[in-house]
Amino acid sequence: TREQGGNHYQFYTYTMNDKILNSMVMETKMRAALENDEFILHYQPQVNVRKGKVVGMEALVRWDSPEDGLILPQDFIPLAEETGLIIPLGEWVLRTACSQNRAWQSAGYPPMDISVNLSARQFRQARLVDMVERVLRETGLDPRYLVLEITESVALQDVDFTVATLQSLRAMGIKIAMDDFGTGFSSLSYLKRLPIDILKIDRSFMRDVVHSPQDAAIVSTIISLAHNLNLKLIAEGVESEAQARFLEKKQCEEIQGYLFSKPLPLPEVEFFLRRFRL
Ligand code: C2E
Ligand code: CA
Ligand code: CA
Ligand code: CA
Repeated sequence: TREQGGNHYQFYTYTMNDKILNSMVMETKMRAALENDEFILHYQPQVNVRKGKVVGMEALVRWDSPEDGLILPQDFIPLAEETGLIIPLGEWVLRTACSQNRAWQSAGYPPMDISVNLSARQFRQARLVDMVERVLRETGLDPRYLVLEITESVALQDVDFTVATLQSLRAMGIKIAMDDFGTGFSSLSYLKRLPIDILKIDRSFMRDVVHSPQDAAIVSTIISLAHNLNLKLIAEGVESEAQARFLEKKQCEEIQGYLFSKPLPLPEVEFFLRRFRL
């Protein structure tokens, strides 16, 4: 009947408005959160298994909301990206991560790399290179201890722009990592053109690498590709000894995953570093 149709329509517009309202509320909350220092970084260790050393930390942002508790990036990065809030948030992440890495070095820990994720909008922002240069100068971190991570899809949006931007960043001494490698369907010829230093093997390939001959073949292929192109490798999502042994046999030495540690809040990082040195 007409009445039912009407109700249905009303319900539909109501949920649509609700969704828009929701993301507006979220955006307002996120702006306030940035003002109120509610964002924090967790750090996940990257370990070289042959050397038995912590070689880096990936900075991973969380929103520590007094109302809602700890919120993971999947629940706010997409909206931050949509609204542009990722630009000030991303600069905060970079500054905090660089300054923290500098502080670890000053405290006498062996120098490590700090890895920071760049989303599409951050990578395309005007003056990205200037911003990074300024943050490095202000925090005093030596650029060779900074790694910027981008994904294949970000890199391939405009390859000429990507190549030029990466060249400027590398000219400062910064390293570039290709994150989630293998998931972006990128053609291998691009890999040759892109000035990158590190491939990060996506954790979707690691999950079944021990039992699935297909995944084992993919991971082995990525490893030989990296070796042949003289790129450093980091395997992500390594959770078991068996996965680590597989990687070691293939001469993939650097591992990031729950096997060694989940992403840690700051006080636990220092605990991890001290314990790991023993
Ligand atoms: P990502 O860059 O691929 O980061 C790795 C994600 O895998 C992290 O999730 C980490 O907690 C998780 N992980 C690490 N080891 C393991 C493991 O052994 N097993 C499993 N199951 N998971 C593991 P997280 O922290 O929730 O971050 C999710 C994504 O959010 C990141 O994926 C990255 O794309 C994005 N992100 C995080 N922090 C930032 C940031 O500061 N800026 C930007 N633009 N994006 C960020
Ligand atoms: Ca990453
Ligand atoms: Ca990744
Ligand atoms: Ca990912």
